[in-house]
Amino acid sequence: MYPDDLNTSITYLPGIGPARAKMLEAELGIRTWHDLLYTFPYKHIDRSRLYKIRELTADMPFVQVLGQFLSFEEAGEGRKHRLTGHFWDGEMFLDVTWFQGISYIKKSVKIRKDYILFGRPSVYGGRLQVNHPDLDNPESMSLGAMKMQPYYTTTERMKKAGMTSRTMERFTSTLFSRLTSELPETLPQYLIDRLHLMPLDHALRAAHYPTTADELASATMRLKFEELFFIQLIIMSYAKRRQQERVGLKFSRIGDAFNTFFRDHLPFPLTEAQKRVIREMHADMKSGRQMNRLLQGDVGSGKTLVALMVMLIAIDNGCQACIMAPTEILAEQHLKTFQNFLRDMPLRIELLTGNVKGRRRQDILQGLSDGTVDILIGTHAVIEDGVRFHHLGLAIIDEQHRFGVAQRAKLQERHQDLTISQFDNLTNEKPSDNENVKLSNREIVKSSNREIVQSSNREIVQFPHILVMTATPIPRTLAMTLYGDLDVSVIDELPPGRKPVRTLHIFDNQPEQLRRGIEREIDAGHQAYIVYPLVKESEKLDLKNVEDEYVRLRSVFPRYRIGMVHGQMKPAEKDEQMQRFVSGETQILVCTTVIEVGVNVPNASVMVIQNAERFGLAQLHQLRGRVGRGAEQSYCILVSSPKLSAETRKRLQIMTETTDGFEIAEADLKLRGPGDLEGTQQSGVAFNLRLANLGRDGQLVGLARDTADFVLSADPELQAPQNSLLLRYLTKHRDDYRDWSQIS
Ligand code: ADP
Ligand code: MG
Repeated sequence: MYPDDLNTSITYLPGIGPARAKMLEAELGIRTWHDLLYTFPYKHIDRSRLYKIRELTADMPFVQVLGQFLSFEEAGEGRKHRLTGHFWDGEMFLDVTWFQGISYIKKSVKIRKDYILFGRPSVYGGRLQVNHPDLDNPESMSLGAMKMQPYYTTTERMKKAGMTSRTMERFTSTLFSRLTSELPETLPQYLIDRLHLMPLDHALRAAHYPTTADELASATMRLKFEELFFIQLIIMSYAKRRQQERVGLKFSRIGDAFNTFFRDHLPFPLTEAQKRVIREMHADMKSGRQMNRLLQGDVGSGKTLVALMVMLIAIDNGCQACIMAPTEILAEQHLKTFQNFLRDMPLRIELLTGNVKGRRRQDILQGLSDGTVDILIGTHAVIEDGVRFHHLGLAIIDEQHRFGVAQRAKLQERHQDLTISQFDNLTNEKPSDNENVKLSNREIVKSSNREIVQSSNREIVQFPHILVMTATPIPRTLAMTLYGDLDVSVIDELPPGRKPVRTLHIFDNQPEQLRRGIEREIDAGHQAYIVYPLVKESEKLDLKNVEDEYVRLRSVFPRYRIGMVHGQMKPAEKDEQMQRFVSGETQILVCTTVIEVGVNVPNASVMVIQNAERFGLAQLHQLRGRVGRGAEQSYCILVSSPKLSAETRKRLQIMTETTDGFEIAEADLKLRGPGDLEGTQQSGVAFNLRLANLGRDGQLVGLARDTADFVLSADPELQAPQNSLLLRYLTKHRDDYRDWSQIS
């Protein structure tokens, strides 16, 4: 049979004229039959059984009862105005009440006529009642056929125009009755068999009109799986291609630098988790393929040391290494840490930030290009503007989560631009003679940072290994999707001897308690952060202004030296304030979230977070990570208004119950959904998920990924006939996801 064309406009459905079509497109984005089929009900209600009134209890969900109204009465004035109908099922009466639309009900509902009443029982003044039920004519419902009824989302505008969930139901059932052939399958038969999936045609029908809850579950599973599978297929096909194309430098040696450090300089034993991730990275770097790895580890888990040690592997293999930090303060901190760890070792470490200028800068640039600088520490700004390495083997990006998705994508572009433009420069040197070009390439290659090999007519460039580090714990399922083409290593263990930060939640009407707590810690020689959510005063949100607070706190704590840092300050000013706190000159730092990132002041033992209800879990966790870095007990005080929504209360409670970043991230994902997770705002939209939820459907994400891997391992280019459907999809949609796969 000739398949129905799902691109047919919805105006070709009976009941949808131009006005309704316009409304459907504007409100729900539905233009074609396909769109309508893929606009799924948000719930179903079991209408397969009729109840008697005597069976009803107030804790029941929606139920339906067959009966008649015997009388109506109106009572109350104004907002208390209501209409009560006395509904009789042949045995008993039930009160049915309306508070709105009373005149419409009076006009349209008939006395002594059969209705199927559908609603949720409740108790009012000791009497069972149902408010605002749906009423259906039993003849039009054909009792035997009543099943799971779909409920569709409609907008306010649609409701005003008389388009309800029932209207949508009519549209979809009309469409299904119109379809003359089975809907074409989108997955290859061998996958459907292998995974015992419901065929697409059946799944789509059952997603709207299931006969049982089980059938609905299987249909939903099939459709969610498909959404997730295609995303994974695209991401992984990119990843595989990149792996093939991106030949990496081969770091097979472990030599003097690493061994000397490990033997003589390591001030404490590595944790098992640190050892494991170093092994994972070394395995990548000696494989001959480019490493692209994400290192996740909670704040304080010791990522810096891991970074340093893999850099030493690069150095042992005759390469340079660099690490990029998101702020100057962090870059300087890394410099100190590295100098301290590596002291006496014959390595040249340099710091390059926007502040390094003139001769000093020239010196460093020279050292980078002649290879005498072994380790470069810097900020992005610097790396981006044309630094040339003699032989860069490893680039590390620290605190990756600080860079927005867009910036990361740009960085990737920048990196490619750079690669291509350098490459162009090389080839342009002798454009006239092909042989010479190749020769000169090879020569320059030796002195430059990549090896260019001629193979099957394609130039293969050896890329430096890439490691990105983040303290934002991303749940595995989300990481697999957002960073789908990165390998992930996790440090899931803190160095021994850390005391978990003790976290308290107090209300902002207890300032005395807070003041005494802070004083006790500072008098014991420690320091405190006090964090506020915003700089600019916003009357609407009633947030405290940091600058006002700074002035106020100086009178609350006259004995202490107080500093202030916020986002509106000039970088130099900010740095100076930070330095004063780092050196212990100021004892209290009043600040906004600018301090969120990796700053290490082990002497700080108190983190006060004001208006804690305004922060998300991920941010609260990051902020808390600023304390608890020394040997002493540290405290995190969440201060909030007493008026909290249930969700906010839950969020703050989670903070007081656990310090485990992954637990917190999982909880966050469940509370808010992945669309809101830091740095992932666009993910839901970009992936266009209609049914699947990256947070809740973790197991399905895993299955989708394994399946994509299984398919692509057997047939990387999807050339086999049984994969032709997949190839067609991939070719059509690849570009939709390009941005996502290149973020890393
Ligand atoms: P983060 O992962 O947040 O970047 P850091 O690398 O700054 O954490 O490490 C936090 C602190 O833990 C540093 O002072 C570091 O020296 C220390 N540290 C790292 N590894 C260990 C270890 N194996 N044993 C004890 N202390 C460690
Ligand atoms: Mg760090």
